[in-house]
Amino acid sequence: MPSLLPELIRRFGVSGPRYTSYPTTDRLVEAFTPDHLAQALAQRRDGAAAMMQPLSLDVHIPFCESLCYFCSCDKTITRQHEHGETYLRYLKREVDLYTAHFGVRQTVTRLHLGGGTPTFLSDRELRDLMNMLRAGFAFAPSGEYSIEVDPRSVDETRLTTLRELGFNRLSLGVQDFDPAVQKAVHRVQSSGKIFSLVASARALGFESISVDLIYGLPQQTPESFDRTLEQVSQLRPDRIALYAYTHLPERFKPQRRIIAAELPTADAKVSMLTRSLSALEHAGYVHLGMGHFALPDDSLAVAKRQGRLHRGFQGYSAHPDCDLIGLGVSAIGRVGATYSQNAKTLDEYCNYLDHGRLPVARGLALSRDDLVRRAVIMALMCQGQLQFESVELSYLIDFNSYFAAEFNTLRIMQEQGLVEINSTGIEVTPLGGLFVCGVAMVFDRCLQADQARARFSRIL
Ligand code: SF4
Repeated sequence: MPSLLPELIRRFGVSGPRYTSYPTTDRLVEAFTPDHLAQALAQRRDGAAAMMQPLSLDVHIPFCESLCYFCSCDKTITRQHEHGETYLRYLKREVDLYTAHFGVRQTVTRLHLGGGTPTFLSDRELRDLMNMLRAGFAFAPSGEYSIEVDPRSVDETRLTTLRELGFNRLSLGVQDFDPAVQKAVHRVQSSGKIFSLVASARALGFESISVDLIYGLPQQTPESFDRTLEQVSQLRPDRIALYAYTHLPERFKPQRRIIAAELPTADAKVSMLTRSLSALEHAGYVHLGMGHFALPDDSLAVAKRQGRLHRGFQGYSAHPDCDLIGLGVSAIGRVGATYSQNAKTLDEYCNYLDHGRLPVARGLALSRDDLVRRAVIMALMCQGQLQFESVELSYLIDFNSYFAAEFNTLRIMQEQGLVEINSTGIEVTPLGGLFVCGVAMVFDRCLQADQARARFSRIL
Protein backbone atom coordinates (compact mmCIF):
# COMPACT_ATOMS: atom_id res chain seq x y z
CA MET A 1 0.00 0.00 0.00
CA PRO A 2 1.75 3.27 -1.08
CA SER A 3 2.58 5.60 1.83
CA LEU A 4 1.29 8.55 -0.20
CA LEU A 5 -2.15 6.94 -0.43
CA PRO A 6 -3.88 9.06 2.25
CA GLU A 7 -2.65 12.19 0.48
CA LEU A 8 -3.86 10.92 -2.88
CA ILE A 9 -7.24 10.00 -1.43
CA ARG A 10 -7.59 13.51 -0.07
CA ARG A 11 -6.60 14.88 -3.46
CA PHE A 12 -8.50 12.60 -5.84
CA GLY A 13 -11.27 11.37 -3.58
CA VAL A 14 -13.46 14.02 -5.10
CA SER A 15 -17.22 13.76 -5.40
CA GLY A 16 -18.34 11.47 -8.17
CA PRO A 17 -20.85 8.88 -9.34
CA ARG A 18 -20.37 5.15 -8.96
CA TYR A 19 -21.10 4.37 -12.61
CA THR A 20 -23.45 1.48 -12.31
CA SER A 21 -24.73 3.14 -15.48
CA TYR A 22 -23.75 5.87 -17.90
CA PRO A 23 -25.41 8.32 -18.05
CA THR A 24 -26.03 8.12 -14.31
CA THR A 25 -29.56 7.80 -13.01
CA ASP A 26 -29.83 11.46 -11.98
CA ARG A 27 -30.01 12.16 -15.75
CA LEU A 28 -33.25 10.24 -16.21
CA VAL A 29 -36.09 12.50 -17.28
CA GLU A 30 -39.86 12.45 -16.88
CA ALA A 31 -40.25 13.02 -20.62
CA PHE A 32 -39.46 9.31 -20.95
CA THR A 33 -42.82 7.62 -20.47
CA PRO A 34 -44.22 4.08 -20.24
CA ASP A 35 -44.85 4.29 -23.99
CA HIS A 36 -41.14 4.78 -24.65
CA LEU A 37 -40.34 1.67 -22.64
CA ALA A 38 -43.09 -0.21 -24.48
CA GLN A 39 -41.38 0.72 -27.78
CA ALA A 40 -38.04 -0.59 -26.48
CA LEU A 41 -39.74 -3.82 -25.39
CA ALA A 42 -41.35 -4.15 -28.83
CA GLN A 43 -37.93 -3.73 -30.45
CA ARG A 44 -36.58 -6.48 -28.22
CA ARG A 45 -39.51 -8.70 -29.16
CA ASP A 46 -39.09 -8.04 -32.89
CA GLY A 47 -35.30 -8.29 -33.01
CA ALA A 48 -34.48 -11.94 -33.68
CA ALA A 49 -30.92 -11.60 -32.35
CA ALA A 50 -32.03 -9.76 -29.23
CA MET A 51 -34.59 -12.46 -28.54
CA MET A 52 -31.69 -14.81 -27.96
CA GLN A 53 -30.29 -12.60 -25.19
CA PRO A 54 -31.28 -13.61 -21.69
CA LEU A 55 -32.82 -11.22 -19.21
CA SER A 56 -31.86 -10.04 -15.75
CA LEU A 57 -34.57 -9.31 -13.20
CA ASP A 58 -34.26 -6.84 -10.33
CA VAL A 59 -37.22 -7.06 -7.96
CA HIS A 60 -37.61 -4.39 -5.30
CA ILE A 61 -39.49 -5.08 -2.06
CA PRO A 62 -39.80 -1.64 -0.48
CA PHE A 63 -40.78 -2.49 3.11
CA CYS A 64 -38.64 -2.47 6.26
CA GLU A 65 -39.76 -3.03 9.84
CA SER A 66 -37.30 -0.64 11.36
CA LEU A 67 -35.37 2.40 10.18
CA CYS A 68 -31.57 2.38 9.87
CA TYR A 69 -30.44 5.96 10.38
CA PHE A 70 -27.82 5.85 7.62
CA CYS A 71 -30.39 4.76 5.01
CA SER A 72 -30.61 6.50 1.65
CA CYS A 73 -32.90 3.95 -0.05
CA ASP A 74 -36.50 4.33 -1.21
CA LYS A 75 -38.45 2.31 1.34
CA THR A 76 -41.54 2.29 3.55
CA ILE A 77 -41.12 1.62 7.26
CA THR A 78 -44.02 -0.48 8.54
CA ARG A 79 -44.79 -3.41 10.80
CA GLN A 80 -48.05 -4.11 8.96
CA HIS A 81 -47.18 -7.24 7.04
CA GLU A 82 -50.49 -7.31 5.17
CA HIS A 83 -48.86 -4.76 2.82
CA GLY A 84 -46.79 -7.65 1.45
CA GLU A 85 -49.74 -9.50 -0.03
CA THR A 86 -51.19 -6.39 -1.70
CA TYR A 87 -47.79 -5.50 -3.10
CA LEU A 88 -47.39 -8.96 -4.63
CA ARG A 89 -50.69 -8.49 -6.47
CA TYR A 90 -49.30 -5.31 -8.06
CA LEU A 91 -46.00 -7.00 -8.90
CA LYS A 92 -47.99 -9.68 -10.71
CA ARG A 93 -49.76 -7.02 -12.76
CA GLU A 94 -46.39 -5.55 -13.67
CA VAL A 95 -44.99 -8.94 -14.73
CA ASP A 96 -48.15 -9.52 -16.81
CA LEU A 97 -47.62 -6.20 -18.60
CA TYR A 98 -44.05 -7.17 -19.48
CA THR A 99 -44.98 -10.61 -20.72
CA ALA A 100 -47.81 -9.06 -22.76
CA HIS A 101 -45.16 -6.90 -24.43
CA PHE A 102 -42.56 -9.53 -25.20
CA GLY A 103 -44.15 -12.91 -24.50
CA VAL A 104 -43.88 -15.36 -21.62
CA ARG A 105 -41.02 -17.61 -20.70
CA GLN A 106 -38.15 -15.41 -21.80
CA THR A 107 -34.93 -16.83 -20.33
CA VAL A 108 -33.66 -15.23 -17.14
CA THR A 109 -30.06 -15.81 -16.03
CA ARG A 110 -29.92 -13.36 -13.12
CA LEU A 111 -32.40 -12.41 -10.44
CA HIS A 112 -31.75 -9.99 -7.64
CA LEU A 113 -34.31 -9.57 -4.90
CA GLY A 114 -33.51 -6.36 -3.03
CA GLY A 115 -35.12 -3.70 -0.97
CA GLY A 116 -36.03 -2.42 1.45
CA THR A 117 -36.01 -5.80 3.11
CA PRO A 118 -37.08 -8.72 0.86
CA THR A 119 -37.40 -10.93 3.94
CA PHE A 120 -40.16 -8.59 5.13
CA LEU A 121 -42.27 -11.02 3.08
CA SER A 122 -43.37 -14.23 4.80
CA ASP A 123 -42.15 -17.61 3.53
CA ARG A 124 -45.52 -18.13 1.85
CA GLU A 125 -45.33 -14.73 0.14
CA LEU A 126 -41.77 -15.37 -1.02
CA ARG A 127 -42.94 -18.69 -2.44
CA ASP A 128 -45.86 -16.96 -4.20
CA LEU A 129 -43.49 -14.35 -5.59
CA MET A 130 -41.10 -16.95 -7.01
CA ASN A 131 -43.96 -19.01 -8.46
CA MET A 132 -45.32 -15.89 -10.13
CA LEU A 133 -41.89 -15.01 -11.58
CA ARG A 134 -41.37 -18.58 -12.79
CA ALA A 135 -44.77 -18.50 -14.51
CA GLY A 136 -43.70 -15.41 -16.46
CA PHE A 137 -40.03 -16.19 -17.10
CA ALA A 138 -37.88 -19.27 -17.69
CA PHE A 139 -35.11 -19.35 -15.09
CA ALA A 140 -31.88 -20.87 -16.46
CA PRO A 141 -30.64 -23.72 -14.24
CA SER A 142 -27.14 -22.23 -14.01
CA GLY A 143 -28.30 -18.67 -13.27
CA GLU A 144 -27.30 -16.34 -10.41
CA TYR A 145 -30.23 -15.84 -8.06
CA SER A 146 -29.45 -13.52 -5.18
CA ILE A 147 -31.36 -12.04 -2.28
CA GLU A 148 -30.50 -9.29 0.20
CA VAL A 149 -30.93 -10.54 3.71
CA ASP A 150 -31.37 -8.50 6.87
CA PRO A 151 -29.74 -10.74 9.51
CA ARG A 152 -32.37 -9.61 12.03
CA SER A 153 -35.21 -11.04 9.97
CA VAL A 154 -33.91 -14.53 9.11
CA ASP A 155 -32.94 -17.73 10.85
CA GLU A 156 -31.75 -21.10 9.60
CA THR A 157 -35.29 -22.19 8.76
CA ARG A 158 -35.82 -19.15 6.55
CA LEU A 159 -32.49 -19.70 4.85
CA THR A 160 -33.60 -23.25 4.10
CA THR A 161 -36.74 -21.87 2.46
CA LEU A 162 -34.73 -19.38 0.41
CA ARG A 163 -32.45 -22.16 -0.81
CA GLU A 164 -35.48 -24.31 -1.73
CA LEU A 165 -36.89 -21.38 -3.68
CA GLY A 166 -33.80 -21.39 -5.87
CA PHE A 167 -31.68 -18.61 -4.38
CA ASN A 168 -28.00 -19.48 -4.60
CA ARG A 169 -26.45 -16.17 -3.48
CA LEU A 170 -26.91 -14.21 -0.28
CA SER A 171 -26.05 -10.64 0.50
CA LEU A 172 -25.95 -9.79 4.21
CA GLY A 173 -26.12 -6.24 5.54
CA VAL A 174 -23.53 -6.19 8.34
CA GLN A 175 -22.24 -2.57 8.18
CA ASP A 176 -20.24 -2.79 11.44
CA PHE A 177 -19.91 -5.34 14.24
CA ASP A 178 -19.30 -2.73 16.95
CA PRO A 179 -22.31 -2.52 19.33
CA ALA A 180 -21.82 1.24 19.91
CA VAL A 181 -21.91 1.92 16.16
CA GLN A 182 -24.92 -0.36 15.70
CA LYS A 183 -26.76 1.52 18.45
CA ALA A 184 -25.86 4.91 16.93
CA VAL A 185 -27.37 3.90 13.57
CA HIS A 186 -30.34 2.03 15.05
CA ARG A 187 -29.42 -1.34 13.60
CA VAL A 188 -28.50 -3.71 16.40
CA GLN A 189 -27.61 -7.26 15.33
CA SER A 190 -25.29 -9.63 17.14
CA SER A 191 -22.11 -10.90 15.55
CA GLY A 192 -22.99 -14.38 16.88
CA LYS A 193 -26.17 -14.39 14.79
CA ILE A 194 -24.31 -13.33 11.66
CA PHE A 195 -21.61 -15.99 12.12
CA SER A 196 -24.26 -18.64 12.63
CA LEU A 197 -26.26 -17.50 9.55
CA VAL A 198 -23.17 -17.63 7.36
CA ALA A 199 -22.33 -21.14 8.64
CA SER A 200 -25.92 -22.25 7.91
CA ALA A 201 -25.88 -20.68 4.46
CA ARG A 202 -22.67 -22.54 3.61
CA ALA A 203 -24.11 -25.82 4.86
CA LEU A 204 -27.22 -25.22 2.74
CA GLY A 205 -25.10 -24.83 -0.38
CA PHE A 206 -25.38 -21.11 -1.12
CA GLU A 207 -22.67 -20.61 -3.71
CA SER A 208 -21.70 -17.08 -2.80
CA ILE A 209 -22.11 -15.04 0.36
CA SER A 210 -21.57 -11.32 0.26
CA VAL A 211 -21.28 -8.90 3.18
CA ASP A 212 -21.88 -5.14 3.10
CA LEU A 213 -19.79 -2.88 5.32
CA ILE A 214 -19.96 0.88 5.81
CA TYR A 215 -17.19 3.13 7.09
CA GLY A 216 -17.71 6.70 8.24
CA LEU A 217 -20.62 5.87 10.57
CA PRO A 218 -21.13 7.57 13.95
CA GLN A 219 -19.04 6.19 16.83
CA GLN A 220 -16.65 4.52 14.42
CA THR A 221 -12.90 4.97 14.86
CA PRO A 222 -10.09 3.51 12.77
CA GLU A 223 -9.34 1.16 15.67
CA SER A 224 -12.96 0.04 16.11
CA PHE A 225 -13.28 -0.53 12.37
CA ASP A 226 -10.06 -2.59 12.44
CA ARG A 227 -11.83 -4.92 14.88
CA THR A 228 -14.83 -5.21 12.54
CA LEU A 229 -12.49 -6.03 9.64
CA GLU A 230 -10.79 -8.65 11.77
CA GLN A 231 -14.15 -10.30 12.43
CA VAL A 232 -15.09 -10.07 8.75
CA SER A 233 -11.82 -11.78 7.85
CA GLN A 234 -12.76 -14.60 10.21
CA LEU A 235 -16.27 -14.75 8.72
CA ARG A 236 -14.61 -15.02 5.28
CA PRO A 237 -17.51 -14.14 2.97
CA ASP A 238 -16.87 -14.70 -0.74
CA ARG A 239 -17.48 -11.04 -1.46
CA ILE A 240 -17.31 -7.80 0.51
CA ALA A 241 -18.80 -4.46 -0.47
CA LEU A 242 -17.25 -1.57 1.46
CA TYR A 243 -19.22 1.65 1.20
CA ALA A 244 -18.41 5.13 2.49
CA TYR A 245 -21.16 6.73 4.53
CA THR A 246 -21.98 10.20 3.28
CA HIS A 247 -23.90 12.37 5.68
CA LEU A 248 -26.55 14.26 3.69
CA PRO A 249 -29.32 14.88 6.23
CA GLU A 250 -30.88 17.61 4.10
CA ARG A 251 -31.41 15.04 1.34
CA PHE A 252 -32.06 11.83 3.29
CA LYS A 253 -34.45 12.31 6.19
CA PRO A 254 -33.41 9.24 8.25
CA GLN A 255 -29.90 10.68 8.52
CA ARG A 256 -31.24 13.60 10.56
CA ARG A 257 -31.36 11.18 13.49
CA ILE A 258 -27.60 10.71 13.35
CA ILE A 259 -25.69 12.86 15.82
CA ALA A 260 -23.24 14.77 13.63
CA ALA A 261 -20.78 15.20 16.51
CA GLU A 262 -20.43 11.40 16.67
CA LEU A 263 -19.28 11.13 13.05
CA PRO A 264 -15.59 10.41 12.41
CA THR A 265 -13.48 13.22 10.97
CA ALA A 266 -12.46 13.25 7.31
CA ASP A 267 -8.93 12.16 8.32
CA ALA A 268 -10.34 9.27 10.35
CA LYS A 269 -12.38 8.19 7.31
CA VAL A 270 -9.30 8.25 5.10
CA SER A 271 -7.51 6.19 7.73
CA MET A 272 -10.39 3.66 7.85
CA LEU A 273 -10.27 3.31 4.09
CA THR A 274 -6.51 2.83 3.82
CA ARG A 275 -6.50 0.38 6.74
CA SER A 276 -9.42 -1.50 5.16
CA LEU A 277 -7.59 -1.82 1.85
CA SER A 278 -4.53 -3.20 3.66
CA ALA A 279 -6.51 -5.50 5.93
CA LEU A 280 -8.57 -7.02 3.13
CA GLU A 281 -5.54 -7.41 0.89
CA HIS A 282 -3.74 -9.08 3.80
CA ALA A 283 -6.77 -11.37 4.28
CA GLY A 284 -6.40 -12.51 0.66
CA TYR A 285 -9.18 -10.51 -1.02
CA VAL A 286 -8.90 -9.11 -4.54
CA HIS A 287 -10.04 -5.50 -5.00
CA LEU A 288 -12.42 -5.50 -7.97
CA GLY A 289 -12.83 -1.71 -7.85
CA MET A 290 -15.19 0.77 -6.19
CA GLY A 291 -14.78 -0.83 -2.74
CA HIS A 292 -15.83 -4.30 -3.92
CA PHE A 293 -13.65 -7.24 -2.92
CA ALA A 294 -13.78 -10.97 -3.65
CA LEU A 295 -11.84 -14.07 -2.71
CA PRO A 296 -9.44 -15.10 -5.52
CA ASP A 297 -11.54 -18.13 -6.55
CA ASP A 298 -14.84 -16.21 -6.58
CA SER A 299 -16.35 -15.87 -10.06
CA LEU A 300 -15.95 -12.06 -9.96
CA ALA A 301 -12.24 -12.25 -9.12
CA VAL A 302 -11.78 -14.86 -11.87
CA ALA A 303 -13.70 -12.63 -14.32
CA LYS A 304 -11.52 -9.67 -13.34
CA ARG A 305 -8.34 -11.68 -14.04
CA GLN A 306 -9.74 -12.82 -17.39
CA GLY A 307 -10.96 -9.34 -18.44
CA ARG A 308 -14.61 -10.44 -18.36
CA LEU A 309 -15.90 -8.23 -15.56
CA HIS A 310 -19.04 -6.19 -16.28
CA ARG A 311 -20.81 -3.48 -14.35
CA GLY A 312 -24.47 -2.58 -14.32
CA PHE A 313 -27.26 -1.46 -12.01
CA GLN A 314 -26.77 -4.66 -9.99
CA GLY A 315 -23.06 -3.89 -9.52
CA TYR A 316 -20.15 -5.97 -10.80
CA SER A 317 -21.01 -9.15 -12.67
CA ALA A 318 -19.21 -11.95 -14.47
CA HIS A 319 -22.08 -12.12 -16.97
CA PRO A 320 -22.19 -10.08 -20.18
CA ASP A 321 -24.52 -7.10 -20.24
CA CYS A 322 -28.10 -8.08 -20.90
CA ASP A 323 -31.47 -6.40 -20.74
CA LEU A 324 -32.58 -5.76 -17.17
CA ILE A 325 -36.21 -5.65 -16.12
CA GLY A 326 -36.78 -3.70 -12.90
CA LEU A 327 -39.92 -4.75 -11.04
CA GLY A 328 -41.44 -2.91 -8.09
CA VAL A 329 -41.33 0.55 -6.55
CA SER A 330 -38.32 2.62 -7.75
CA ALA A 331 -36.78 -0.36 -9.60
CA ILE A 332 -34.49 0.52 -12.49
CA GLY A 333 -34.41 -1.26 -15.85
CA ARG A 334 -32.29 -1.23 -18.96
CA VAL A 335 -33.81 -2.40 -22.24
CA GLY A 336 -31.88 -1.89 -25.49
CA ALA A 337 -30.48 1.64 -25.46
CA THR A 338 -32.88 2.89 -22.77
CA TYR A 339 -32.90 3.21 -19.00
CA SER A 340 -36.11 3.54 -17.04
CA GLN A 341 -37.08 3.87 -13.41
CA ASN A 342 -40.37 2.99 -11.78
CA ALA A 343 -42.35 5.42 -9.63
CA LYS A 344 -40.69 5.97 -6.26
CA THR A 345 -43.78 5.92 -4.05
CA LEU A 346 -46.18 3.04 -3.49
CA ASP A 347 -49.19 5.18 -4.35
CA GLU A 348 -47.78 6.32 -7.69
CA TYR A 349 -46.57 2.82 -8.54
CA CYS A 350 -49.99 1.28 -7.86
CA ASN A 351 -51.73 4.10 -9.70
CA TYR A 352 -49.87 3.36 -12.95
CA LEU A 353 -50.74 -0.33 -12.67
CA ASP A 354 -54.38 0.41 -11.79
CA HIS A 355 -54.51 2.15 -15.17
CA GLY A 356 -52.89 -0.78 -16.95
CA ARG A 357 -49.63 1.08 -17.60
CA LEU A 358 -46.03 0.13 -16.98
CA PRO A 359 -45.16 2.08 -13.79
CA VAL A 360 -42.32 4.05 -15.41
CA ALA A 361 -41.89 7.54 -13.97
CA ARG A 362 -38.72 8.56 -15.77
CA GLY A 363 -36.07 7.26 -18.07
CA LEU A 364 -33.67 8.02 -20.88
CA ALA A 365 -33.13 7.00 -24.49
CA LEU A 366 -29.36 6.92 -24.89
CA SER A 367 -27.78 8.93 -27.70
CA ARG A 368 -24.92 7.61 -29.81
CA ASP A 369 -22.50 9.76 -27.81
CA ASP A 370 -23.88 8.24 -24.58
CA LEU A 371 -23.20 4.76 -25.97
CA VAL A 372 -19.62 5.65 -26.95
CA ARG A 373 -18.90 7.14 -23.53
CA ARG A 374 -20.62 4.27 -21.74
CA ALA A 375 -18.34 1.79 -23.55
CA VAL A 376 -15.26 3.81 -22.55
CA ILE A 377 -16.32 4.30 -18.93
CA MET A 378 -17.29 0.65 -18.42
CA ALA A 379 -14.02 -0.57 -19.96
CA LEU A 380 -12.08 1.59 -17.50
CA MET A 381 -14.28 0.61 -14.53
CA CYS A 382 -14.26 -3.13 -15.25
CA GLN A 383 -11.08 -3.97 -17.19
CA GLY A 384 -8.94 -1.08 -15.97
CA GLN A 385 -7.83 -0.50 -19.53
CA LEU A 386 -9.10 0.60 -22.89
CA GLN A 387 -7.95 -0.14 -26.44
CA PHE A 388 -8.69 2.80 -28.76
CA GLU A 389 -9.17 0.50 -31.73
CA SER A 390 -12.04 -1.46 -30.18
CA VAL A 391 -14.02 1.74 -29.55
CA GLU A 392 -13.12 3.12 -32.98
CA LEU A 393 -14.32 -0.05 -34.73
CA SER A 394 -17.50 -0.34 -32.69
CA TYR A 395 -18.56 3.29 -33.00
CA LEU A 396 -16.73 4.47 -36.15
CA ILE A 397 -14.91 7.35 -34.47
CA ASP A 398 -11.32 8.53 -34.34
CA PHE A 399 -10.63 8.19 -30.59
CA ASN A 400 -7.94 10.86 -30.37
CA SER A 401 -9.96 13.57 -32.05
CA TYR A 402 -13.31 12.55 -30.47
CA PHE A 403 -11.79 12.79 -26.98
CA ALA A 404 -9.18 15.51 -27.61
CA ALA A 405 -10.35 17.61 -24.63
CA GLU A 406 -10.40 14.60 -22.29
CA PHE A 407 -6.74 13.84 -23.06
CA ASN A 408 -5.70 17.11 -21.38
CA THR A 409 -7.04 15.87 -18.03
CA LEU A 410 -5.78 12.34 -18.60
CA ARG A 411 -2.24 13.61 -19.05
CA ILE A 412 -2.40 15.27 -15.62
CA MET A 413 -3.54 11.92 -14.21
CA GLN A 414 -0.65 10.26 -16.00
CA GLU A 415 1.77 12.62 -14.24
CA GLN A 416 0.19 11.56 -10.92
CA GLY A 417 0.77 7.89 -11.78
CA LEU A 418 -2.92 7.03 -12.06
CA VAL A 419 -2.98 6.08 -15.75
CA GLU A 420 -0.58 5.11 -18.53
CA ILE A 421 -1.35 6.40 -22.02
CA ASN A 422 0.32 5.02 -25.13
CA SER A 423 -0.46 5.03 -28.84
CA THR A 424 -2.91 2.12 -28.61
CA GLY A 425 -4.80 2.72 -25.38
CA ILE A 426 -5.12 3.78 -21.78
CA GLU A 427 -4.29 1.63 -18.78
CA VAL A 428 -5.31 2.40 -15.22
CA THR A 429 -2.33 1.75 -12.91
CA PRO A 430 -2.75 -0.28 -9.69
CA LEU A 431 -2.72 3.03 -7.79
CA GLY A 432 -5.20 4.55 -10.25
CA GLY A 433 -7.46 1.53 -9.63
CA LEU A 434 -8.27 3.06 -6.25
CA PHE A 435 -9.48 6.21 -8.04
CA VAL A 436 -10.93 4.52 -11.12
CA CYS A 437 -14.19 6.39 -10.78
CA GLY A 438 -12.23 9.67 -11.00
CA VAL A 439 -10.57 8.41 -14.19
CA ALA A 440 -13.97 7.44 -15.65
CA MET A 441 -15.35 10.87 -14.75
CA VAL A 442 -13.01 12.42 -17.31
CA PHE A 443 -15.21 10.88 -20.03
CA ASP A 444 -18.52 11.85 -18.41
CA ARG A 445 -19.98 14.58 -20.57
CA CYS A 446 -22.86 15.07 -18.15
CA LEU A 447 -20.54 15.93 -15.28
CA GLN A 448 -19.07 19.23 -16.27
CA ALA A 449 -20.22 21.54 -13.51
CA ASP A 450 -18.98 21.41 -9.93
CA GLN A 451 -22.55 21.95 -8.88
CA ALA A 452 -23.51 18.60 -10.40
CA ARG A 453 -20.54 16.91 -8.74
CA ALA A 454 -21.67 18.03 -5.35
CA ARG A 455 -24.78 15.89 -5.65
CA PHE A 456 -22.81 12.66 -5.51
CA SER A 457 -21.19 10.96 -2.62
CA ARG A 458 -17.46 10.46 -2.33
CA ILE A 459 -15.93 7.94 -4.67
CA LEU A 460 -14.19 5.92 -1.97
S1 SF4 B 1 -30.73 0.32 5.23
FE1 SF4 B 1 -31.93 -1.34 4.31
S2 SF4 B 1 -32.95 -2.33 6.05
FE2 SF4 B 1 -32.23 -0.33 6.77
S3 SF4 B 1 -33.99 1.05 6.47
FE3 SF4 B 1 -32.71 1.21 4.64
S4 SF4 B 1 -33.56 -0.26 3.20
FE4 SF4 B 1 -34.37 -0.77 5.23
